[in-house]
Amino acid sequence: MGAKVDIPFFPVVNFPVTAQVEGCVPHYLGERREFVREQVKRQLIEQDAVLVAHYYTDSELQEIAEETGGFVSDSLDMARFGNTHPASTLVVAGVRFMGETAKILNPEKRVLMPTLEAECSLDLGCPAEDFVCFCDIHSDRTVVVYANTSAEVKARADWVVTSGIALKVVRYLHDRGEKMIWAPDRHLGRYVQKMTGADMLLWQAECVVHGEFRVRALERLVGQHPQAAVLVHPESPESVIALADVVGSTTRLINATRELPNKEFIVATDNGIFYKMRQAAPGKKLIEAPTFGEGATCQSCAHCPWMAMNGLHNLLHVLETGDNEVYVKESVRVEALRSTQKMLDFARQ
Ligand code: SF4
Repeated sequence: MGAKVDIPFFPVVNFPVTAQVEGCVPHYLGERREFVREQVKRQLIEQDAVLVAHYYTDSELQEIAEETGGFVSDSLDMARFGNTHPASTLVVAGVRFMGETAKILNPEKRVLMPTLEAECSLDLGCPAEDFVCFCDIHSDRTVVVYANTSAEVKARADWVVTSGIALKVVRYLHDRGEKMIWAPDRHLGRYVQKMTGADMLLWQAECVVHGEFRVRALERLVGQHPQAAVLVHPESPESVIALADVVGSTTRLINATRELPNKEFIVATDNGIFYKMRQAAPGKKLIEAPTFGEGATCQSCAHCPWMAMNGLHNLLHVLETGDNEVYVKESVRVEALRSTQKMLDFARQ
């Protein structure tokens, strides 16, 4: 294809790694742990609350969500679930943009998060002020942003997408002859651009987890496990995607472990997903894709440091105190709803 990738006028965005968690998240043991779990469950009922957890959070939180009628999924389905569930309080275990998205879609509901400090390197790498300026310079282009962005960035966008629906939306816009700005993930943007042939101007942020997967080490691992299927999230570098048997969203990768006949899988995404993969494909072997090798800094070691900030201790705390409520300025929310709702309506077609 005569596809075009332009590099924006700024360099690759560096985000403050110091924002990552330092020290340990407390873990309860034995009877104390059981007691805290029961307290959480009791509070969820008393507060008319439902727990919505991302695949990358601690398996214990995923378990509690499932046991209490809550939900575990990717960001698209988390948004959908929160929108349809009757509970008056949504407790979102994940990173900040997920709590904001819940509030954008559910202004009448109280949205709590175990921590408001859980960021995302993609969100941090796309400051709203810079992004708005960039869009204004390229005002002839349709603005498509990934869900991993602030409410302000969503408010400037024409479309919000998740990795599960990005290809479909961009293909649709490309077929209508629209040129696009894509933000913030450069690897996902390049992948979508390559698959669709669309004219996309790519913002240059990246995920601290997926950006760390290393191709040479992965090639060696594939050599050691020739029967394994390689599952890769498209936020990973192009060279890693090139080795994949399946490229897709977290939900797509979980389904692949169930649907493919392979007994082994090498998985290039956050290892929090193993909890759901083990449910989907019991008895199959899951191997983490390597984050070591040339150029690696092991900032994440295949687990998002911000997702890891969600734990039993702060989940109980917010339920008991009502702390960490998520607010979005109404004028921003209305605009962010417009672009987010477009994705949800498109997904229904
Ligand atoms: S895994 Fe990457 S994309 Fe997901 S929240 Fe963490 S930093 Fe953001």
